[in-house]
Amino acid sequence: MTTISADSLPDALGAPARDFISRSHRLLIGGEQLEAADGRTFSTLDPASGREIAEVALGGAEDVARAVAAARDAFASGPWGSMPASGRERLMHGLADALEARAEEFAQIESLDNGKPVGLAQYVDVNGAVGHLRYFAGWPTKIEGGVLPVSAPNMHVYTRREPVGVCGQIIPWNFPLLMAAWKLGPALAAGCTVVLKPAEQTPLSALRLGELALEVGFPPGVLNVLTGDGETGAALVDHPDVDKIAFTGSTAVGREIGAKAGRALKRVTLELGGKSPNVILPDADIEAAVKGSFQAIYFNSGQACNAGSRLFVPADRYDEVLSALAEAAAAAQLGAGLDAGTQLGPLVSAEQQERVLGYIASGVEEGAEVLTGGEAALTDSGGYFVAPTLFSTTSDELRISREEIFGPVLVASPYDTLEEVAERANAGEYGLAAGVWTRDVGNAHKLAAMLRAGMVYINTWGAVDPSAPFGGFKASGIGREHGHDGLDAYLESKTVWTAL
Ligand code: NAP
Ligand code: MG
Repeated sequence: MTTISADSLPDALGAPARDFISRSHRLLIGGEQLEAADGRTFSTLDPASGREIAEVALGGAEDVARAVAAARDAFASGPWGSMPASGRERLMHGLADALEARAEEFAQIESLDNGKPVGLAQYVDVNGAVGHLRYFAGWPTKIEGGVLPVSAPNMHVYTRREPVGVCGQIIPWNFPLLMAAWKLGPALAAGCTVVLKPAEQTPLSALRLGELALEVGFPPGVLNVLTGDGETGAALVDHPDVDKIAFTGSTAVGREIGAKAGRALKRVTLELGGKSPNVILPDADIEAAVKGSFQAIYFNSGQACNAGSRLFVPADRYDEVLSALAEAAAAAQLGAGLDAGTQLGPLVSAEQQERVLGYIASGVEEGAEVLTGGEAALTDSGGYFVAPTLFSTTSDELRISREEIFGPVLVASPYDTLEEVAERANAGEYGLAAGVWTRDVGNAHKLAAMLRAGMVYINTWGAVDPSAPFGGFKASGIGREHGHDGLDAYLESKTVWTAL
């Protein structure tokens, strides 16, 4: 395995991030750092320049088997299985504290590997991950069964809540550390052990988090990190000794994983794509709605599953809203995530840039009007930038109106009545999020009830909290993360009957 010279990394990196990134990156299995069994590696890039920043071990089926065995050992007879709930609580708080103490290092690693602005990485990804781990650190000591008032006489019946077992957790590249925390929090709180598979575009923060877990005292094998590609993920899904799969990513891969889990009768939760409608009502505070709608789509360069990617505007406010949005989008500062002043980073990869530009071309071809953007940006940088783009169309049938683009591309359309906009907002296969901008409390909640989406945002967009369920209706997924629902997905119920 080769290492990349620390000198070739951007100057903006502090010493801890630089030292970590320029080390060799192996698989984390059973508390050890191991090369892939067949010695394969892959490169991870800086999306702002297209340059290689690190080489990382590429786990194959044999490594999956080793990692699952390590997770099984730690779970069943191992130290994790026998640890009291208060011990899990203490370790999870320890991990949250350690992560918080290294917030800058993690934010820089994430910014360089993913491309996102370092301030966003620190505030959203790192702080969000810390908060999530802390919230779930509170759960282990509160997982209770019940005593049941059954009708049969002389019976004592109670339930136990037991961990599901070994969990395969497969995460995407858009919020790598945060998605790792969203998956790990409930799994560790429940007492499960984990094989975590980060995305090939952004493997670094999960590896660092895995090391940190060992440093704070998690027993070996509780958290295994298996870097690799889609085949690594597929091998994890296929492994017969994995009890549950948790996945966040594309709908296509989610369908495949759901089908496999169905056949094997594995537990499964899926957080998938979206094409979320954002509805401005005629009485809205237009300035707030424009600001919020800008954030809803362009935040993280549009690479968010709950991006507000379809905007519905009353016909008589249409020009006003669209010209304000176009102006804000055209003024946004694009740049490398580590550069001060950057508002929007690059897309994560050349593949994503090509995909998004392909959607933009299809929108133009199908007759939508480009009000701003519509092309690659900062093309001399070697990075994967796309200018924030605003389309206007009256059709809901274009590919850009129906399919998830996962880039900084907003499709706006005018409407006339509340009933019309509710029907149009609910059309399509997805149902992850939806937004309403209004000062009318009645219409706000009427529409919230009409919208078929897992999250409805009123006069805001994208708010998250570890206590608030997150997930989708329809093709946007199965199950919910966060809160009680999120924890339940990692627990089995056992009913114990005793004749007295
Ligand atoms: P993806 O293929 O669904 O990747 C998500 C995760 O699944 C990655 O860790 C990936 O590994 C892994 N994976 C890929 N194929 C797999 C398989 N057959 N079995 C098990 N795991 C597998 O997503 P993508 O190709 O990176 O992005 C494509 C599109 O997906 C985006 O344009 C966007 O529309 C959507 N997406 C959605 C989210 C979300 O938050 N809902 C996040 C990312 C992408 P590798 O990356 O290593 O191949
Ligand atoms: Mg990368």
